[in-house]
Amino acid sequence: MIRSVVHMISTSDRRRTAPLLRIDLEAVAANTRLIRTRTTGSLMAVVKADGFGHGASSVACTAMVHGASSLGVTSIQEAVALRTTGIVAPILSWLNPVDADFASALTQDIAVAVPSVDHLQAVARTAAEVGTRAIVHLQADTGMARDGASSVDWLRLSVMARDAQNQGLISVVGLMGHLGSADTPLDPANAAARRMFQQFTRVVRGVGLRPTTRHLAATAATLTDPRSHYEMSRVGIGLVGVDPSGAARLRPAMTLTAPVVSTRDVPAGTPVGYRGAYTTSRATTLALLPIGYADGVPRTASGRAEILLNGSRRPIAGLVSMDQTIVDVGHDAVQPGDVATVMGPGDLGEPTVIEWADWAGTIAHEVMTGLGDRIPREILPARQLSAAERHDRRHDERLRRLA
Ligand SMILES: *Cc1c(COP(=O)(O)O)cnc(C)c1O
Repeated sequence: MIRSVVHMISTSDRRRTAPLLRIDLEAVAANTRLIRTRTTGSLMAVVKADGFGHGASSVACTAMVHGASSLGVTSIQEAVALRTTGIVAPILSWLNPVDADFASALTQDIAVAVPSVDHLQAVARTAAEVGTRAIVHLQADTGMARDGASSVDWLRLSVMARDAQNQGLISVVGLMGHLGSADTPLDPANAAARRMFQQFTRVVRGVGLRPTTRHLAATAATLTDPRSHYEMSRVGIGLVGVDPSGAARLRPAMTLTAPVVSTRDVPAGTPVGYRGAYTTSRATTLALLPIGYADGVPRTASGRAEILLNGSRRPIAGLVSMDQTIVDVGHDAVQPGDVATVMGPGDLGEPTVIEWADWAGTIAHEVMTGLGDRIPREILPARQLSAAERHDRRHDERLRRLA
């Protein structure tokens, strides 16, 4: 007896045999413009982790054209990679070991965050060797016990920074903190962090330093809490369309699709995938997608996740495999070569990255940055600004400077 009937995709139709991650830079442009209107401070576009999986240089260039005035990344290597693509905008790198390649940062005009006395000494020593002044943002821990200087060290760090500045080795241009609970705006930890940041500012000013750019807010606080804005916001995930606080309507910039490789008609009671974690409750058709957890489809979303295929949401059947995912499509006509939308902005009913994050018990940041290099990417450019829009933007910038 034939237990199941299998239909395979034709191998001649190569166009439809691979998953695709489409990046919509017009969405990045629109998000940047919207976020820019929410603060009187300037905007640093955070493009670490390859622009949250969207391509660091594409997101960086788009954000710079549409309202950002500088770029932020974690490591000096990420900053150097941006320089290598020809980007000349100001860049800040904020997480480096004490023995990092500060010489590259200095020679390529990359500002560095300084979270400790040891870092300060390393940066100052490198500046003396290279013969350039390092551009420095002093970084305070404002309540996360993570990556800035603890309050017990603020005074010593400030004094040493002032001395290094007086020796012409560094310029302290910025102060930086970070909010650990900004996605829940009413959490008292936010007010506590702001108070710590104020205190840090007083300590730094108390020794005579006058940094002009203080920055504490990332996406969520930029959109929900003007008290955290200061002179600049560091915005990452908002640019690519997710507001962790849920307060703003941003447009997700990525759409992940995968073609159906094969379909299989199976009877009721068929165990599906590893461990038979799913059993068909009726005769149905299963569709196979060539994408799995190695590509970043979270295995922990198995049992809850859905995809959009031919206009309907369909449940993922059983456990997501490393390279494959099975979908239960019922009796609807689904052919090999039909294209499933795994996640996207939600326009046509496809799941969003936020739904995937909920299904997987994580946050959108992790889902986005987990999408693997194996998936080919297609970049849709942003619309060019018209001459009138460029004029309006310059006018707008002048008004902001006067404000
Ligand atoms: C990642 C990061 C940001 C950006 O955060 P989003 O929530 O993605 O906007 C800002 N500041 C620091 C220090 C970061 O590490």
